[in-house]
Amino acid sequence: MTRRVALIGKPLRRRHSQVMHDAAFVAAGIDSRYELLELEPDAVESAVNQARGADWLGLQVTAPYKRLVAGLCDRVEPDAATIGAVNSVVRSGAGELVGFNTDAPGFRVAAELAMGRPLAGADVVVAGAGGAAHAVVFACLSAGAHRVTIGNRTVSSAALLADRFAAVGTTGVAAVALDDLAFARALRSADLAVNATTVGMLEPGSTIEVDQLSAGATVFDLVYVPPETPLLHAARARGLRAANGSEMLIQQAAIAFQRWTGVGGMADVMRAAVAPLLADATIRA
Ligand code: NAP
Repeated sequence: MTRRVALIGKPLRRRHSQVMHDAAFVAAGIDSRYELLELEPDAVESAVNQARGADWLGLQVTAPYKRLVAGLCDRVEPDAATIGAVNSVVRSGAGELVGFNTDAPGFRVAAELAMGRPLAGADVVVAGAGGAAHAVVFACLSAGAHRVTIGNRTVSSAALLADRFAAVGTTGVAAVALDDLAFARALRSADLAVNATTVGMLEPGSTIEVDQLSAGATVFDLVYVPPETPLLHAARARGLRAANGSEMLIQQAAIAFQRWTGVGGMADVMRAAVAPLLADATIRA
């Protein structure tokens, strides 16, 4: 029986996940295929229910359905419930659908690789308060970051995000406006500065002023199309450690693959498979 996995979203502009998972299925000797399901909202429930069938391993979910799918699962794991987003679903042997989140652990692995040190004890500044920022802030706090400052264009969203996670970490979470002096001040003592907005992808510019950062800081941009945003360009020009979102994409995929199949260690296979797409300058956001 050919097993099935699908990515649900709208629009589905990229094939990166399909390419990574199909390569991993081949490498692991598993007869399975990864489908792309671009769905209207009223078609999501039946697509999710279809994944209860014995031929299904699970699902991946992207915008705008991460919350909707959480409500359609039989169970949502605590981390995903706290983050408020399910981006992966695994079908249990009994046909139960369990929602989980791989963005947070994927970010943690990728950020620690980029920093060359653990997130524990780090001062982190995050630009953005959308879906990705939720996973990033949760990952930092649950890893034991010393302090997390969230800066967002709409400061009320940053405040809601800070409130949501106030109980997760043992230390402080602050919410400020991106153009607030307090954001610039937080950058000065940051070990890690993260762009979790769409700036640099959907529009030019940068959310983080790299001149404010210390020489030991790491810049992590979740954007991976284009591979080098103005933020990363400026960070590298200053000689800072800097990474785009490609490793987060790869690590989160490898975590989902392991949950579906029990086969771990697929990040290298996935990285090699997706490299041509990541390097393809004709792929636009
Ligand atoms: P989202 O939920 O739509 O949130 C967008 C965020 O960007 C909000 O905080 C928004 O601020 C901010 N923003 C948009 N335009 C802005 C501007 N002109 N100036 C300042 N802030 C602006 O998006 P998301 O799902 O969180 O995704 C954010 C980014 O992360 C995207 O580029 C996405 O591709 C990337 N991502 C990467 C990975 C990975 O694996 N590498 C995973 C997930 C997401 P307001 O609240 O003020 O509107």
